[in-house]
Amino acid sequence: MIHQYENNGYRIVLDVNSGCVHVVDGIGYDVIACLADISQEHTEESLKSEGIWEKLLKELKEKYSEEELKETLDDVTELVKAGQLFTKDLYEGFAGEVKKRKTVVKALCLHIAHDCNLACKYCFAEEGEYHGRRALMSFDVGKKALDFLIANSGSRRNLEVDFFGGEPLMNWQVVKDLVAYGREQEKLHGKHFRFTLTTNGVLLNDEVQEFVNKEMDNVVLSLDGRKEVNDYMRPFRNGKGSYELIVPKFQKLADSRNQEKYYVRGTFTRKNLDFSKDVIHFADLGFKQMSIEPVVGEESEEYAIRKEDLPVIFEEYDKLAKYMIERERQGKGFNFFHFMIDLEGGPCLAKRLSGCGSGTEYLAVTPWGDFYPCHQFVGEEEFLMGNVDEGVTHPEIADDFRGCNVYSKEKCRNCFARFYCSGGCMANSHKFHGSIHDTYDIACDMEQKRVECAIMIKAALAEERK
Ligand code: SF4
Ligand code: SF4
Ligand code: SF4
Repeated sequence: MIHQYENNGYRIVLDVNSGCVHVVDGIGYDVIACLADISQEHTEESLKSEGIWEKLLKELKEKYSEEELKETLDDVTELVKAGQLFTKDLYEGFAGEVKKRKTVVKALCLHIAHDCNLACKYCFAEEGEYHGRRALMSFDVGKKALDFLIANSGSRRNLEVDFFGGEPLMNWQVVKDLVAYGREQEKLHGKHFRFTLTTNGVLLNDEVQEFVNKEMDNVVLSLDGRKEVNDYMRPFRNGKGSYELIVPKFQKLADSRNQEKYYVRGTFTRKNLDFSKDVIHFADLGFKQMSIEPVVGEESEEYAIRKEDLPVIFEEYDKLAKYMIERERQGKGFNFFHFMIDLEGGPCLAKRLSGCGSGTEYLAVTPWGDFYPCHQFVGEEEFLMGNVDEGVTHPEIADDFRGCNVYSKEKCRNCFARFYCSGGCMANSHKFHGSIHDTYDIACDMEQKRVECAIMIKAALAEERK
C-alpha cells in the first residue's frame, strides 16, 4: 500500500507495509501515483509488463520525455527489488495470532483519588468523581492491586503503575506508602516497578518534588497552554484560574529532572483551535517534553471538536511542524509527543497491530478496587472486569479487547496510518459508536494528519543531515 502527499514543499511517498519513506521529485511522485493507480503491490516482473509502460506513456508523456520516464521507472524498479516500495502486507496473516496470543498484565492505572481540587470544564472524570461518589483509595486496596499485578505479570520484569485521579496528590500519603510497598515487593519477586504520577500541580511542593524525583520514572503535568486558554478550561471550583499557581511549580520540577522523564500534557478544544500557539507557549516557558491532545466530547458541548474544525486543525499541525523544524535548526528543539514516530523499527508487532493494551495488558483500578479496561471506562458497569479480591472475573471482556486490532476493523485495514496508530482509542470508539470495534472518524483524520507531519519532520531533518 502506498500513501503519497505533499507537505511543506516535500513530496513524500510512504510504503505503508515496509514503513519506508521516500522523498521524491515531481516525476518520481507522478510515476509512483500512476503505478499505484494500477495496483498497490508490484514486483520487478510486473513493472516490466507492456501495460505498465503504456499507461505511463498515456498519462505522463505530455509532462515528461520518454527518456525521463524510462529512467524513473528504472529507479522505481530498484526500490521494488530492494523491498522498499509497493511491498506486500506481511502482517495481515499475524492478526489472528495476535488475537490468540496469551497476554500478561503489564500496567495498572491506580485511581488513587476520585476527587479533585480543580473543576476543568471538559473533565471526563466529572471533576474527579467518575459518575460515582468521591473516594480515596486505601493503602489496603492499592497493596492488593500491586499484588495482583505481580501475580499476573508472568515473566515480565518491568511493571508500570500510574498514580492517577482525579488528583492523586489529594491522597499523597497512600501514594508514598504504595511506592514503599512496591519497592519492597519488587525485590522479593524479581520485578521492577516504573511509577508515573499524573498531576494538576495544585498541591505540588518541595517535598512532593523530592519524592517524585527519587521514585517516579515519569511525571505527567496537566496544563493547557497560554494563561487565558488554561484558565478558561482549568479553573478552581471558585472560578479562579490555575495557571499562575501551577506554572512556576511545573517549571521547577521539569528543571529538577533535567528536562527529561516528564511531560506537560495539554488538551485543546474548540475554544483554542489555534493550539499551535499553546505548544509554542510551552516551549517558551522552557519545557522540552510536551503533548497537546484534542478534547473528546459530545457534539452538544460548546468546546467539542467538530468535523468542520478539521481544516483549521490541520493548518495548526502544519504550522507546528514547520516551527519545530526551525527550532531544531536553531539547536532549541523540543519533543511534541504526537509528532514522535519511530520510522526505523517502531513497537513490536502485537503493539503495532493492537495498540494501547487496555483491557488486556493494562487495567484501571478504582479507589474501591474494581477493575476496568482503562480510565475512560471507569463507572461503565458493562466494562467492570473484576476486582482486587477476586481478580479478573469477566475474562470475556479481555477477550473482546484482545480481538480488537487494525485488521479487525475495515477502516483501519485500509488506513495508511495503521501501523503508527494501531487502531485508535477503543474508549472513543465506544463513546461514539457504542462498540469498541469501530473508529472515531474525527480522531482518525487528526491522527492521519499528525502521522503525515511527523514523517515530514523526519524527512526534512534527514535531508539536511545528508
Ligand atoms: S485536574 Fe483532571 S481530574 Fe481534576 S477536574 Fe481537571 S481534568 Fe478533572
Ligand atoms: S487512524 Fe483511524 S482508521 Fe487509521 S488506523 Fe487509526 S483508528 Fe484505524
Ligand atoms: S482505550 Fe483509549 S483512553 Fe483507554 S488506554 Fe486505550 S487509547 Fe487510552
